[in-house]
Amino acid sequence: MISTAARRLLFIHPMDPLESPAVIDAYTLRMTGALRAARLGDSWRGVHTCSCGARSTSWDYLVRTDKGQLITSSLAIHYLAHHRHEVPEAELAKVMHLVANDATPDAKELAFGRPPVAPIPFPPDRRGAD
Ligand SMILES: [Zn+2]
Repeated sequence: MISTAARRLLFIHPMDPLESPAVIDAYTLRMTGALRAARLGDSWRGVHTCSCGARSTSWDYLVRTDKGQLITSSLAIHYLAHHRHEVPEAELAKVMHLVANDATPDAKELAFGRPPVAPIPFPPDRRGAD
């Protein structure tokens, strides 16, 4: 099942095995920057387990766009990098509306997304705002 609701980003449910190597391109870099700068949204009981076994956190993440904000999952980077062929075009289009500095995902972000630790900021993007 795939949710492409306008306020949600990358709430998808891949069915296929993990694609390797990871796809690191403009979409993945933008999503990584956005998720690092995200605010925590609501939490819910349980986690989402991807078809490959990767598990989400039990939190929503609020990311900035040029039109406001979207709600996304901690697995958003993982989906773009490792399940790209299952990501709908409409979701890819939303990614390019994110307002964030591009950032290269580390191994943990590719595998698990972002941990739910609001008070501890993620390392700032050292590439600057160029
Ligand atoms: Zn997966």
